[in-house]
Amino acid sequence: MDSISFDNSYARLPERFHSQQPPAPVAEPSPIRVNRALATELGIDADWLAGDAGTQLVAGNTTVAGSEPIATVYAGHQFGGYNPQLGDGRAVLLGEVLTPDGSRFDLQLKGSGPTRYSRGGDGRSGIGPVLREYILSEAMHRLGVPTTRALAAASTGEFVQRERFLPGAVLARVASSHIRIGTFQYFAAQRDKEALQLLADHVIARHYRDAQSSDNRVLALLGGVISRQAYLIAQWQLLGFIHGVMNTDNMLVCGETVDYGPCAFMDQFNPDQVYSSIDHGGRYAYRNQPSIAHWNLSQLAQALLPIMHDDPEEAVALAQTAIDTFPNQFLKANTQGMARKLGLQTIGETDTSLVEDLWQLMAEQKLDFTLVFRRLADLADNSNEGASSVAGLFEFPDSMQPWLERWRERLTQDSQSSTEQQAQMYRANPVFIPRNHLVEAAIAAATDRDDLDVFHQLVEVLENPHQYSADRALYATPPEPEQVVNQTFCGT
Ligand code: AMP
Ligand code: MG
Repeated sequence: MDSISFDNSYARLPERFHSQQPPAPVAEPSPIRVNRALATELGIDADWLAGDAGTQLVAGNTTVAGSEPIATVYAGHQFGGYNPQLGDGRAVLLGEVLTPDGSRFDLQLKGSGPTRYSRGGDGRSGIGPVLREYILSEAMHRLGVPTTRALAAASTGEFVQRERFLPGAVLARVASSHIRIGTFQYFAAQRDKEALQLLADHVIARHYRDAQSSDNRVLALLGGVISRQAYLIAQWQLLGFIHGVMNTDNMLVCGETVDYGPCAFMDQFNPDQVYSSIDHGGRYAYRNQPSIAHWNLSQLAQALLPIMHDDPEEAVALAQTAIDTFPNQFLKANTQGMARKLGLQTIGETDTSLVEDLWQLMAEQKLDFTLVFRRLADLADNSNEGASSVAGLFEFPDSMQPWLERWRERLTQDSQSSTEQQAQMYRANPVFIPRNHLVEAAIAAATDRDDLDVFHQLVEVLENPHQYSADRALYATPPEPEQVVNQTFCGT
């Protein structure tokens, strides 16, 4: 019996899209964690994946029948500067898994050794970045954000040399596909119109079937990507998630979050917050994420021009019209999300100052992003501030009382009962997020003490991010001043 059902449509694209690249074997694979629920969704036997054969696969020591490992090529704008040749430098695509319900997912190994695109890098990953991506991507999934996912992680029994020697690990990552804005940019820069068309057809067939019947399929594809990215970035903003490295090679056209390098969730609200050690100018600060996404999408539009219309001027006009819809689409998704967070059914023009004043007060008082909204949920129903209350962790300062009065007054004007409003808010406002200091603690325990328990416990708490209980209060508590993490690193 085949252990995984593969059908590798990307590998069937012409040779200039990828190069054959088996993962490089490692000394001594050992399992770190298996995502059993995800394995089952993919039609992979979780016990098999957790056993020796599965570990060998995750570590890259064996491949299974049907797998055709490749490294894919792409380009991209990194911090605004165009790099014509990037590609999977420390990853291989094992193949596309067909799930029992007929869906298709990329199965990729990250940290699996050098490829043609490694540019001098070792193609490996330390255990830190692997655990970080596992924790963050699975947390994002449980928070309802479109994202690549972590299927499994294994340690290699080898060390990687970074600022110091670190234990190595490999992550088995799952995505609807790993096709990036930068993949289109690569072929556009090569002036390879045929490849652009093949790639567009491939992406439409996989992710934008609705575009198939459109008069202008490429324009419909662009419109689809814009809509999904507008929605995605809104979800980030609503959770205080800072991606940190929004280069065009790190934006997937399927609309899932990818590349959990220097990303982080904010503790205290600060719109200018940056964590990434390499983001000196604050290009990818929290408040800039929507405009950067907009800029990235205009790079996608630019790349698609040659296949959008035979008349170049007409192509530009069409693309521009599509790109111009981004700000409003983002605003709409963001406003809808904000309404849910505040217990309202809609946010109208008369509510704008209520929302803006909240952000301003949060910034002035440096309030904890997550606990502000969670505490508001507690307060939404006067008669029921029960077991899930975070009152012991967070209380609004007196200076917030006038705003709270305004908000309460606004709640009474909505048609939902206060019980319904509170339930909506508990669903929209998580109490557990992967706080930086907790992520760092999990990584430090694994790196320095070979202790994976801290990591496992954190992953398990984050499986239910909205369900509070006092015995897990530590996971909801903001960092003490000495625990605050100010910088995150790509770790490559
Ligand atoms: P990132 O900043 O993580 O999006 O990576 C940018 C590019 O650098 C991609 O093409 C990666 O494949 C490549 N890269 C990052 N780390 C390594 C590494 N350790 N070895 C080889 N290539 C790498
Ligand atoms: Mg990347």
